[in-house]
Amino acid sequence: MKTLKDLGDLSGKKVLVRCDFNVPLDGTTITDDGRIRAALPTLRELLKDNAKVIIMAHLGRPKGKVVPELSLAPVAKRLGELLGVNVTLAHDTCGEDAKAKTDAMKPGEVVLLENVRFNPEETSKDPAVRAPYAKKLSALADVFVSDGFGVVHRAQGSDYDVAKDLPSAAGLLIEKEVRNLSRATENPERPFTVVLGGSKVSDKLGVIENLLDKADRLVIGGGMVFTFLKAKGYEVGHSLLEEDMIDTVKGYMETAKKNGVELVLPTDIVAADKFAADSPAVTVDADKIPADKMGLDIGPKSQKLFHDKIVDSKTVVWNGPMGVFEFPRFAAGTKAVAQGLVDATKNGAFTIVGGGDSASAVRNLGFKDDEFSHISTGGGASLQFLEGKELPGLSVLE
Ligand code: AMP
Repeated sequence: MKTLKDLGDLSGKKVLVRCDFNVPLDGTTITDDGRIRAALPTLRELLKDNAKVIIMAHLGRPKGKVVPELSLAPVAKRLGELLGVNVTLAHDTCGEDAKAKTDAMKPGEVVLLENVRFNPEETSKDPAVRAPYAKKLSALADVFVSDGFGVVHRAQGSDYDVAKDLPSAAGLLIEKEVRNLSRATENPERPFTVVLGGSKVSDKLGVIENLLDKADRLVIGGGMVFTFLKAKGYEVGHSLLEEDMIDTVKGYMETAKKNGVELVLPTDIVAADKFAADSPAVTVDADKIPADKMGLDIGPKSQKLFHDKIVDSKTVVWNGPMGVFEFPRFAAGTKAVAQGLVDATKNGAFTIVGGGDSASAVRNLGFKDDEFSHISTGGGASLQFLEGKELPGLSVLE
């Protein structure tokens, strides 16, 4: 993979940079600026080199239309504060304003182009539709730096096609993501524990399949665990369940046994009447979930079990919450797992929090980035990496 140094002297050059600024917003307030902070090393490096920095990014899912609420204006403001330089927002992505503002740039200046997903071509599956649009983006600059790790699992205009048009390289964030994720998947120090949660088994099939012959231990929680409990023949009430995945999950259980992978499931569950923050909660054994209740978190015994399994590891990868952590009453399982990773890190283990939502979850639960070895900025991208699949936005930088 080509890196910044392969681009040579960038002084005075227009450098188009793809960043992942898809931050959570409450109105116009950014509730977690982790993704903006993660982009700073590359941007600072380019500014130090006296480049003209032109940034492309997306926010939310405007589906190819201009949606004023999804303007990057709050990002431009926050980025300016963090970088300590003025960040000019162009009011389009590759139209007249983008052209005028980037033409007027001086070395050391920063222009942020408006949300690339306001353009329907950006995410088109048809390369012939994306190509002319990507050419307009490429025409704004001399070279391209890909640093939006959160999007490299998709071939899109601003991460894939521009890389074909311009001399290109990975930025420092992508370099770091690839180095850390490879460390966990290629030659992990053992025991290697993978913790998976989140809502659906079907989203994590590829990861489970790939890691069933790499990990020593697979710890499962979250909404997806009820399909595992059902596969064991337990009553799961009206917890989240993917009926059509039960046989697949049974297959995983057999493969785990055959491969000597320890499959760790919760032994108790915090269950409630309904999916609501104030729904009264009871703790029940995992094989005794009442038929009229739903499991919304792992129970206290499981929290300790999961924590201890994590601490007894040299490499830990975690993706997906253990329960409905958005409701404080059902956040303890996710907190216990996060604490497990923190304690493992203190013991010298290499720990990765994978995925945008898990990353926001740990920050919102009060944990600090430096308490983990690595917090990945990419949800889908880190999962696809863990699946061992090719990521088009990375291959194009080879
Ligand atoms: P994902 O996007 O697949 O990583 O899933 C994240 C979501 O899973 C979060 O919004 C959680 O609230 C949700 N979740 C976790 N555990 C449960 C559960 N037991 N029941 C329902 N939803 C859950």
